[in-house]
Amino acid sequence: ASEEGSATALANPNIALVKYWGKRDEALILPWTGSLSLTLDAAPTTTTVRLTDTPDDVVLLGGRPLEGTARSRVTRFIDLVRALADRDERVSVDSHNEIPTGAGLASSASGFAALALAASTAFGLDLDRRALSRLARRGSGSASRSIFDGIAVWHAGHDDESSFAEAVPAPGLELGMVLTVLDARAKSVSSRDGMRRTVDTSPYYPAWVERTPVELEEMLAAITRADFTAVGTIAERNAMRMHATMLGAEPPVRYWGPASVELLDLVANLRGDGLECYATMDAGPNVKILCRADAVDELAARILEAQPHIGVIPARAGRGARLITSEPGGS
Ligand code: ATP
Repeated sequence: ASEEGSATALANPNIALVKYWGKRDEALILPWTGSLSLTLDAAPTTTTVRLTDTPDDVVLLGGRPLEGTARSRVTRFIDLVRALADRDERVSVDSHNEIPTGAGLASSASGFAALALAASTAFGLDLDRRALSRLARRGSGSASRSIFDGIAVWHAGHDDESSFAEAVPAPGLELGMVLTVLDARAKSVSSRDGMRRTVDTSPYYPAWVERTPVELEEMLAAITRADFTAVGTIAERNAMRMHATMLGAEPPVRYWGPASVELLDLVANLRGDGLECYATMDAGPNVKILCRADAVDELAARILEAQPHIGVIPARAGRGARLITSEPGGS
């Protein structure tokens, strides 16, 4: 076996407008419902995978060795790639997130999308986008969507083959988003655990599973019409319903803080003032605000005017995962 294989890939985070919350198969990462997201043009993960002759995989995130479950999540993912490529070399993984890790800002989406592309390339696999999306899904469900430019829909599917994301054409719909960074610390309940608890204990979860496909269809229709008002309204409502479902868990899963609620009020006020924008939130306190692409700078300025001490990340629709360099290893 050659030891020359190496590849560096870059992937951007994506923020769901119709949320993914809950797995029906934890091993294969098959979701209960489909979801839809916007891949951003900001805050990428850059990941280099190199085949090595060390006895063990070496995994660095932000220059530091990963340990425990964070490390095994990566090495198990690499095991899948080794199995696909029918090879057994160890690797070194060197990954850098621009976004804070584990703060509900989609680092696992950009992280596993970049890892899927870099690792599969280093091992000499040449996967098409669908196969790459399926592979990325095994690392983190939402990573399946960061493979694609702009808007992507992840079909829930019923098995490993049928659960993948694909791009949704959106002619005439120019979306922007401002991410607020209210708290960059890693959350205390991981998305994985929060999902599991919601699925297992929230009496509202069956309603979420029943309702989400309807909202996904409504969202796809709104995108086809390039109807920004409908896209934003559906997205905000869907996010609130996801959090309502979590709040019904035992014990409740609550990712909001007081600063999140202030931001939700600010969004409503800005909208009342004629700056059309909508809020969405994930597994963390940081509110993301959807707007038209040409309103991003004004929205970021208005947020900072009201809340001078928070961080903002202005973004627009961005590209899916791509290779920066590659030297695939021949077997
Ligand atoms: P986030 O909170 O960042 O939005 P998430 O909501 O999907 O991500 P988790 O499922 O808890 O939350 O994922 C966060 C975990 O993903 C991190 O703790 C880390 O283990 C893993 N992760 C993040 N970035 C990377 C990366 N670049 N490479 C490998 N693993 C990563």
